[in-house]
Amino acid sequence: MPQTILLWFRRDLRLDDNPALTHALSTGARIVPVYIHAPNEEAPWAPGAASRWWLHGSLLALDESLQRFGGRLWIARGDSLTELRRIVAATGAIGVSWNRLYDPVTRERDTRIKQALRSDGLRCESHNAALLFEPWEIANGNGQPYRVFSAFWRACVKELSGIRPEPAPESLPAGVAPVGGLSVEDLGLLPTIPWDQGLRATWTPGESAVLARANAFLDTRVADYGATRDRPDAPGTSRLSPHLHFGEIGPRRLLAMIVERFGDPTAEPAEPFVRELGWREFSYHLLYHFPQTPAEPLDPRFADFPWRTDGAAERLDAWQRGRTGIPLVDAGMRELWHTGWMHNRVRMVVASLLTKNLRLPWQSGARWFWDTLVDADLASNTQGWQWTAGCGADAAPYFRVFNPVRQGERFDPDGGYVRRWCPELARLPNQYIHQPWTAPPPILKAADIRLGSHYPLPIVDLAISRQEALAAWGTVKGNRPNPPVTAFE
Ligand SMILES: Cc1cc2nc3c(=O)[nH]c(=O)nc-3n(C[C@H](O)[C@H](O)[C@H](O)COP(=O)(O)OP(=O)(O)OC[C@H]3O[C@@H](n4cnc5c(N)ncnc54)[C@H](O)[C@@H]3O)c2cc1C
Repeated sequence: MPQTILLWFRRDLRLDDNPALTHALSTGARIVPVYIHAPNEEAPWAPGAASRWWLHGSLLALDESLQRFGGRLWIARGDSLTELRRIVAATGAIGVSWNRLYDPVTRERDTRIKQALRSDGLRCESHNAALLFEPWEIANGNGQPYRVFSAFWRACVKELSGIRPEPAPESLPAGVAPVGGLSVEDLGLLPTIPWDQGLRATWTPGESAVLARANAFLDTRVADYGATRDRPDAPGTSRLSPHLHFGEIGPRRLLAMIVERFGDPTAEPAEPFVRELGWREFSYHLLYHFPQTPAEPLDPRFADFPWRTDGAAERLDAWQRGRTGIPLVDAGMRELWHTGWMHNRVRMVVASLLTKNLRLPWQSGARWFWDTLVDADLASNTQGWQWTAGCGADAAPYFRVFNPVRQGERFDPDGGYVRRWCPELARLPNQYIHQPWTAPPPILKAADIRLGSHYPLPIVDLAISRQEALAAWGTVKGNRPNPPVTAFE
């Protein structure tokens, strides 16, 4: 009778390049694939509504892949340790194999579970499926974490050639039928009010879908990525982020696909895209070494920042609903609501408007993104918000306030993106599409727009609020700052 090992899936919902699976296969044991739904253990960052939608599809896809190999996903809900012990008892497993997570809460939980299972006499192995490098593998000359992306990435690039993905399995040993397991539907991940039409129309979760998407992107668009990646009006980026978040593909596989096609991943045409994978790595590096950052600014001066409190709820609501009266921002917030995704350039613009012009805390924006993004990722979301707010590592300086009108004119020059997501503005000439409040009344009339009713007037004066933001920054910038960044390079 062969021995049995549990393969505990979490955010590594794939069979290809899955080191925990490779390890389990190498033992010659029977493999019982397990998923345990335990959102309470991830609080306060349990998956938001859009992520739960994605997870539903991704679990179905994983179960289908396993069935093709004659297996089944054993799905449970509740306390992870209790459920693992229950499945160990039911299957006689001698060990548990899994891939690591890096956010503070699940790290602490996984350490506790590993100790408990080992004290039960079980073998426990954890592996890296999510990153090119473990966050502790890359350190500066003093053995300290990096805070500056360029220095971090230089250190990573030197090691890239040693990276190899694990092969996809050719077969799986005969499995064990789940006893008392749940179905994916039993987890209740889908919304009860059907607001998810836009998500369904936009995405196909799962490993097969992401391989097709990645191949198509690398075959056709990666060469233009450097030129088009900042254009929200063009399909210039890969849209792999939710697939990467749920581990339907790993960065090591992506890197291998790039090397196979283009050779050196740090040279044109692939370099600009690979560098973005580097930003993802950097986000995980920061979250691992500065685990307080989902709630607290990395730059301690911002702890005392004078956020605006008057009318805060109304301003936040207008921003969330895409009713600020500033077209590029509203287009982005509506794209997010409809599709669960927003273009990176627009993420920066809407985050800048919230934290600087509206002067609302970055944490309130990060929380809204958390609930609405299908790619909501604690590392990248925290880093993206702190970077834009000016309080993170290698952050945009606080005084660099994105001007959403200028950004629109540069990156959506024909207004195609705004017209798509704010159709009430569709008939405005290009000259006014990013600032309808400057259009003369006859132009507004001809475009059938009544500002203040069809489409809002701007909820904030961009120039005045910029000055106020700089004045607010002036009140804290003399506080004790971080040590100079060079000390960390
Ligand atoms: C305020 C703010 C919040 C963000 N929140 C998230 C989030 O919750 N989840 C998330 O995955 N990304 C987040 N990002 C980063 C970035 O916007 C998305 O990764 C990107 O838009 C995803 O689209 P794509 O897959 O087409 O990216 P591509 O341009 O095709 O890039 C390829 C991959 O590189 C990674 N990447 C690209 N840019 C970044 C970046 N700036 N930081 C970290 N990783 C990056 C992503 O994994 C992405 O899938 C945020 C950025 C900002 C400014």
